[in-house]
Amino acid sequence: MSYQSFNPATGILVKSFPEISDADFEKKIATAADCYASWRQKTYAERAKIVAKASAILHERIDEFAHPMTIEMGKRIGEARGEVQFSSEILAYYAKHAEKFLAPVKLHPTIGEAHMESSPIGVIFCVEPWNFPYYQLARVAGPHLMAGNVIMVKHASCVPQCAIAFEALWREAGAPAGLYTNLLISHEQSDRIIDDPRIKGVALTGSVAAGRSLAARAGKNIKVSSMELGGSDAFIVLEDADLAHTIKWAVWGRMYNTGQTCCAAKRFIVVEKLADRFLEEFRAALAALEPGDPMDEKTTLGPLSTESALVDLLRQVDGAVAKGAKVLLGGKRIDRPGSYMQPTILTDIAPDNPAFREEFFGPVALFFRVKDEEAAIALANDSDFGLGGSVFTKDVARGKRVATRVETGMMFINNISWSDAELPFGGIKDSGYGRELGNMGIQEFVNKKLVRTAHLEAPL
Ligand code: NAP
Repeated sequence: MSYQSFNPATGILVKSFPEISDADFEKKIATAADCYASWRQKTYAERAKIVAKASAILHERIDEFAHPMTIEMGKRIGEARGEVQFSSEILAYYAKHAEKFLAPVKLHPTIGEAHMESSPIGVIFCVEPWNFPYYQLARVAGPHLMAGNVIMVKHASCVPQCAIAFEALWREAGAPAGLYTNLLISHEQSDRIIDDPRIKGVALTGSVAAGRSLAARAGKNIKVSSMELGGSDAFIVLEDADLAHTIKWAVWGRMYNTGQTCCAAKRFIVVEKLADRFLEEFRAALAALEPGDPMDEKTTLGPLSTESALVDLLRQVDGAVAKGAKVLLGGKRIDRPGSYMQPTILTDIAPDNPAFREEFFGPVALFFRVKDEEAAIALANDSDFGLGGSVFTKDVARGKRVATRVETGMMFINNISWSDAELPFGGIKDSGYGRELGNMGIQEFVNKKLVRTAHLEAPL
């Protein structure tokens, strides 16, 4: 039983689901492939009808969808509701804009005329993480279904109820069988589906280790892939930052979703002049968070997603300390039922400390004090990751200059409002490749076909 809902706020097993049999697995792939043959022929308006209906259902029944998220991975209920609403908006966005994004593009050759067409490529296999149990699914379903592809999704093993609810959503929205298929499968079956000739593309959001494995498998099969992987985003505070405004974003940027966000602020890089005041206020704000039931609106600190996530994070903190880091705040499990961790700040992390290069996926902030802006940029870039980052300064032009020099896929000035349906999302280096959301997100799994007309004689 590898697909299990454990409530991380209580440690109680809620429900288990068996992996599907090979026979069922084969049947589902065949159904998806059959569905593609007809779905690709549908007009954008026909596709939009179903995608917009799925969006409307999410919007109308926010609580019903939010509830299993909080039960399965401990997301605080207010955040869970926000995620359902945002997932609805992403679907609505693609239902509305897909046709425009994929319209033929006229080209201007020196001889004759030409255009570029965008057409679907087939069944896309998507592997998704637990930290945003619906948003991640909406990010692949909205664009790829509107493009005329069909998708088969392997969700994380700890959120099976969310995975099943999202599949049921599509049935209710009127999707034909095979348009959206949830797969409760093993890693071995995941490898096999990538090898299957009916699968034409692979999209992963997950860890670097999963990225290495799935990208290699896709590459071996010469299949297009997109990889949205981990991050260790820098949160740069320059000496002219508005401290009160910055502290609020620092707390939200590190603690939203109990710190389990790929593009969360993870490395706090603060210029010397402001460092002591920043640290004092940041520490006080984190220390004030109150652990509690994530179903309770008043709770400000939820549990981690699973017990193993907590154990791994505690081990990582201990490892950092063993190599010289200092614990300024927290560092321990909270003494109560469930998988709760104290908000934590680590300082004095030397470059040879493994923590310097690691992603901390939970409520642990790494703090660095630097001389000036140059040193802040150099430290931000001294990372294997390249997902996002932020810079806080009253001088927006200066913020933009810094943003240009930080080597990541996304930069935010005086905010970290990471994700909007209309803005591209993704990273470079070990944070992966490809983009989701916005116009770019729908272009990842389409055939860009050149069509040229020219009245030319063949060369002799
Ligand atoms: P993970 O272990 O890689 O799991 C993510 C998904 O990949 C799950 O569905 C998991 O299935 C599956 N998976 C892992 N190894 C696999 C393999 N060898 N073959 C097939 N499937 C495999 O990631 P996580 O630690 O749970 O999630 C957090 C990570 O995701 C963090 O590094 C975070 O930064 C990253 N993330 C990135 C983004 C982004 O957009 N860049 C967004 C969110 C999260 P099982 O559960 O069955 O193992």
